[in-house]
Amino acid sequence: MTETKDTDAASRDAMPTNFIRQAIDADIAAGRVQGRVVTRFPPEPNGYLHIGHAKSICLNFGVAHDYPGAVCRLRFDDTNPTKERVDFMEEIQADVRWLGFGWGDRVRHASDYFEPLFEYAVRLIESGHAYVCSLGPEEIRACRGTLTEPGRDSPYRSRPIDESLDLFTRMRDGEFEEGAHVLRARIDMAAPNMNLRDPVIYRILHTPHPLTGDAWHVYPMYDFAQALSDAIEGVTHSLCTLEFEDHRPLYEWFLETLEIRSPPRQIEFGRLNLTHTVMSKRYLTRLVDGGHVDGWDDPRMPTIAGMRRRGFTPEALRDFCERVGVTKNDGAVEFERLEICVRADLEPATRRAMAVLRPLKLVIENYPEDAAETFEAPNHPADPSLGSRRVPFSRELFIEHDDFLEDPPRKFFRFALGREVRLRYACLVTCTGVVRDPRTGSVVEIRGRYDPDSRGGKAPDGRKVRGTVHWVCARQGVRATVRLYDRLFRDPAPDRDVEHLAEQINPDSLRTLESSVVEPALALASPGTPFQFERLGYFVADCRDHGHGTPVFNRTVTLRDSWSRQKKKEPG
Ligand code: ATP
Ligand code: MG
Repeated sequence: MTETKDTDAASRDAMPTNFIRQAIDADIAAGRVQGRVVTRFPPEPNGYLHIGHAKSICLNFGVAHDYPGAVCRLRFDDTNPTKERVDFMEEIQADVRWLGFGWGDRVRHASDYFEPLFEYAVRLIESGHAYVCSLGPEEIRACRGTLTEPGRDSPYRSRPIDESLDLFTRMRDGEFEEGAHVLRARIDMAAPNMNLRDPVIYRILHTPHPLTGDAWHVYPMYDFAQALSDAIEGVTHSLCTLEFEDHRPLYEWFLETLEIRSPPRQIEFGRLNLTHTVMSKRYLTRLVDGGHVDGWDDPRMPTIAGMRRRGFTPEALRDFCERVGVTKNDGAVEFERLEICVRADLEPATRRAMAVLRPLKLVIENYPEDAAETFEAPNHPADPSLGSRRVPFSRELFIEHDDFLEDPPRKFFRFALGREVRLRYACLVTCTGVVRDPRTGSVVEIRGRYDPDSRGGKAPDGRKVRGTVHWVCARQGVRATVRLYDRLFRDPAPDRDVEHLAEQINPDSLRTLESSVVEPALALASPGTPFQFERLGYFVADCRDHGHGTPVFNRTVTLRDSWSRQKKKEPG
């Protein structure tokens, strides 16, 4: 996808719409947009992006894609060097690209504008709209007042302009300890909106910045940096989440007070939340740093990198974001809805393969000991263009442990003593006996006889065989590790107490099977290749661990929504 795309008005009618696009349309119609529409996606590089960010990305880059000549910028909000890292910036760029979006010429950073932002702050001081306050953080908080009581003026509110200018310059040069002074906007300590009670706009920090090193000792606060970075970049529509609604008056105060021409317009939309997970980077950082997950890209994480590693596709994530839509509320969307999009995207073009997760040996007694053959299996049941493959077969096979029951209910159409079952693509086999572990008495192998006239799986006399199971040749199949992922938290709405986050993790969120077997060809699949394992679900060759000796597959999603059913079955 490129940065811009010409779309005529007619095709715009067919574009997805939402209240934000309607607001943009109204601004264009009223002549309030000078030139092209400009949006931005402003992540803070203090962690990986999550699916909530994907919603913002699809919205911002989607507008840029659909409006004639419009652009969307990727701008890092790198104003807090204590938490931000260059490797996070790199991963974020990779994730945005993977989602299918580009940002044209170059990546931008709030730090690119540290000089002009500082100049804007100086202008605020010079015009009497900002002052250096030397109260400590506690005192500032104590003077803020409450929702029902006004705040109290700082004793430094009337500090002479020259003195503030001098102090601010020396703050920048690193002369003072952190917390010794801050720069505050002079607005109104009695404003009903607390954000307008002389907010701090610059603070002293001596931590080196990942990009500007130790060039700066003062860093702008979020609201100031956002409003003016937007202005510098000619952003027309600054889209952000609902929690910034109360900050809009401050955003606008900066733009008005500094007499920005064609100021950007802030519009808020509801955050995306998903059930059975936590979204904010604050929580995700906890899970990673505490070693409760296998890094930011653990396939159970709601991060874009985790979802990629799990086998979710960019198409599915974009489809999901579109279906969820852009609204004014923050409700949680069921995880199942995301899985529906994943299945819908994978179904039409994903190759089929056979894998046995929990193997039980089946010996076909009337099949010659030293014979071997292959059966043809289509790679996709509905798309012949994906071709077919030959699957090796011999006297000894593996079937799924679950596909055999000693005491089956009547409607169990799989293996049980005396029952005939179809081995998919191969032949019909009747179970004739079992081999038990002499110590435990449990079944370790089943025996069977096949009908030599049923090659390909068709009964020669047209007799009805209802059950069909998948299988893998015991001699040529390859041992594999399979990771079964499930909801990270059992509870749809985990308790948001950071201290008690880890203990709420679903103990079954990862089950690792070390002795699965797969068709031999799968061992050669390149990392990231998706498959549908017949009857089991969609899986993907792990992008990190697959191909180093043992094949490793991650379960992307089951074939059907087993979660709601499973929840009912399992206690607790
Ligand atoms: P987090 O709480 O996860 O740290 P954040 O808002 O602090 O989120 P940023 O990196 O500052 O993270 O966010 C970049 C952009 O993504 C912002 O415009 C923000 O509004 C948007 N965004 C973040 N989380 C969500 C979400 N859950 N749904 C929609 N947009 C989001
Ligand atoms: Mg943030």
